[in-house]
Amino acid sequence: MNYFLSEQEEMVKNLFSEYVDKRIIPLRKELDEKHEFPREIFQEMARQDFFRIMVPEAYGGLSDSIMLLNLGLEELSRGDAGISVAFAVDAIATKGVLLYGNDAQKQKYLPGIADGNILTAFAITEPGAGSDAASIKTKAVKKGNKYVLDGVKQFITNGEFADLVMVIAVTDPSKRYKGHTAFLVEKGTPGFSPGKREDKMGIRSSVTNELLFDGCEVPEENIVGSPGQGFYIALGLLDRSRIGIGAQAVGIAQAALDESLKYSHIREQFGKPINSFQAVQIMLADMATQIEASRLLVYHASRLVDSGDKDITKTSAMAKLMATDTAMKVTTDAVQIFGGYGYMKEYPVEKMMRDAKVTQIYEGTNQIQRNVIAARLIKETK
Ligand SMILES: Cc1cc2nc3c(=O)[nH]c(=O)nc-3n(C[C@H](O)[C@H](O)[C@H](O)COP(=O)(O)OP(=O)(O)OC[C@H]3O[C@@H](n4cnc5c(N)ncnc54)[C@H](O)[C@@H]3O)c2cc1C
Repeated sequence: MNYFLSEQEEMVKNLFSEYVDKRIIPLRKELDEKHEFPREIFQEMARQDFFRIMVPEAYGGLSDSIMLLNLGLEELSRGDAGISVAFAVDAIATKGVLLYGNDAQKQKYLPGIADGNILTAFAITEPGAGSDAASIKTKAVKKGNKYVLDGVKQFITNGEFADLVMVIAVTDPSKRYKGHTAFLVEKGTPGFSPGKREDKMGIRSSVTNELLFDGCEVPEENIVGSPGQGFYIALGLLDRSRIGIGAQAVGIAQAALDESLKYSHIREQFGKPINSFQAVQIMLADMATQIEASRLLVYHASRLVDSGDKDITKTSAMAKLMATDTAMKVTTDAVQIFGGYGYMKEYPVEKMMRDAKVTQIYEGTNQIQRNVIAARLIKETK
């Protein structure tokens, strides 16, 4: 299908695609089994200049286009969704510095991120605050020209490996979400340490940690934006980044369809390839159609952001919702097409089904996406 990509977009897509075919697909089973962050792959991706697609040229990158980033994410996800989520989350804090940071912060961090020497994380979720992100409790109390952070962040991707974390904390509890502030916290800052590493169902090559803040002093100049802006920064970033989760879902689903098609030619029952049975053909046709529809919505949402349109919330939620529900359905059907073999770890589709599940949960569950879409529809038609 012709997606009318620019020359640069085609080039980036092909670069990521070739790397995924050559390096990630052969390793994906091992990556899933090891349950370790694959540092060497990230170093290799840095040498391939992959991280430059998150950072504009002025800071040593290639572009700040969300479309370009999402093309890269889709391809990485075709290989291994653990690697792609680590990459996607790196892009959240990076865009945070780019969109809301000051010149000094951009000069200090963006070139290192573009080089792949600085890995970042984004931390808003807490044990008691997930969907209701406004109810976070981690506090940041001003002390001279510093802020002292105390609290626990939960389920933070890249947590223990991140060199820099964007943390949303409460600076004025009396103002609820209007009293939240975004901080940049560097690895090694006294009082900041990783907590428990989670043992996950899928995306096992990514690490997910608790992050502990215990009297952690952060200089005032590490505030991103201004005090009180933190919640809005988080919402603004997630409106953009959840399209990337849609791209991740498209990549996972495409990989499951590719595997299903291959298998459907080889596997014979009743003396014929299973793709000669109409029941299997219907599954394949629905999978392919739903993937294309999801991809087009993800590309459209990406282009909307790149156009500078400010009203992206509904489209971004729709892209995430559609693509991630599709990935869950497509990977489940892929397991069905493989029959009993699909349920076994010897074949890749059970991993894809486990990986797909989390896309319906993180960066705002799909129940929350439906709430957001419905709220917008109702407001638009009042
Ligand atoms: C692997 C993984 C990686 C993650 N990485 C990060 C990260 O890097 N940084 C970060 O900050 N967070 C991260 N998260 C957290 C993630 O964004 C949250 O898990 C998610 O937002 C849901 O919050 P919760 O888990 O507390 O679920 P809850 O909010 O407790 O939701 C539980 C159930 O209730 C439903 N529900 C809640 N409220 C409503 C409502 N108003 N209407 C309808 N249904 C509702 C939900 O949809 C869900 O089904 C990660 C999570 C996972 C699993």
